[in-house]
Amino acid sequence: MTLLTEEDLEKYIDAGRIACLIAKDLEHYVKPNLKILELAHYIENRIRELGGEPAFPVNISINNIAAHYTPLPDDTTIIPSEAVVKIDIGVHIEGYIADTAVTISLSDKFTPLIESVKQALEKALLYIAPGKRFNEVGAIIEKTVKDYGYRPIYNLSGHSIDRYVIHAGETIPNFNDRLNFGKFQKGKVYAVEPFATNGVGFVIETSTTTIYALKFNPKKIRALSKDTYTLYIEIYNTRRTLPFAIRWYIDRISKTRINSILYELRNNNLLIPYPVLIEKSNGVVTQFEHTVLIDNKGNVIITTEC
Ligand code: MN
Ligand code: MN
Repeated sequence: MTLLTEEDLEKYIDAGRIACLIAKDLEHYVKPNLKILELAHYIENRIRELGGEPAFPVNISINNIAAHYTPLPDDTTIIPSEAVVKIDIGVHIEGYIADTAVTISLSDKFTPLIESVKQALEKALLYIAPGKRFNEVGAIIEKTVKDYGYRPIYNLSGHSIDRYVIHAGETIPNFNDRLNFGKFQKGKVYAVEPFATNGVGFVIETSTTTIYALKFNPKKIRALSKDTYTLYIEIYNTRRTLPFAIRWYIDRISKTRINSILYELRNNNLLIPYPVLIEKSNGVVTQFEHTVLIDNKGNVIITTEC
């Protein structure tokens, strides 16, 4: 059995508090015509001010975009009126990660779609205890969302979390997945993240990528050109294989140069792209997420509540 030290526990809780404080106030900040680039800067700067680092670039996913959209360096996108905006925030402190998401709607039209997934998460969290099965959480989420007349997103799921690893191998489904035999365990950390939609309930990848992560492969990095090697080492030393955004490095490296660096990393199998995900039938998507820590005694702590 894995055990969490006092230090592990403390840092997960600190990261969780930062994520919570930021998520809590977003409703007052998100307005029509706000540039999402400005919103991303605001959130990521808040994370740093409060003593954390982004565990991944803040995801700002509007309407039919389900996940993995972070503003590009010169992004001119603004929040449309009546938008449904999902903001997914990751905070890490020395690799201890808190992952949380909220949906903000600028129109009343989507209140039930938001309520369905908010309630799904609340019910799922009440169920979690050591020994309980992941697919039961999925069943709760699926039923709650369907009772509102919507569908969960079947091919997006929650996940276990490890130090410096956001998706640590186990998946917590958003439906009753009978092939998922996973169970919650003491001394482990999980993100539970139901998604709901008025569409068909599946996401597909687009050809746009705004978020990347490095792959660890010490043999391969020796062959890289100087600039690419330097950036690889800089990113790896500060965040290992946690995801990053191009805009974090654009102040020092030109856009053309950064694109060729990404190209070289990709050619050397040192880069994972996370393409933007949209709902297959262009349905509107809502999401909430909390990070849950089960301590060594089996107490369930929601680290992203404050
Ligand atoms: Mn998340
Ligand atoms: Mn997550």
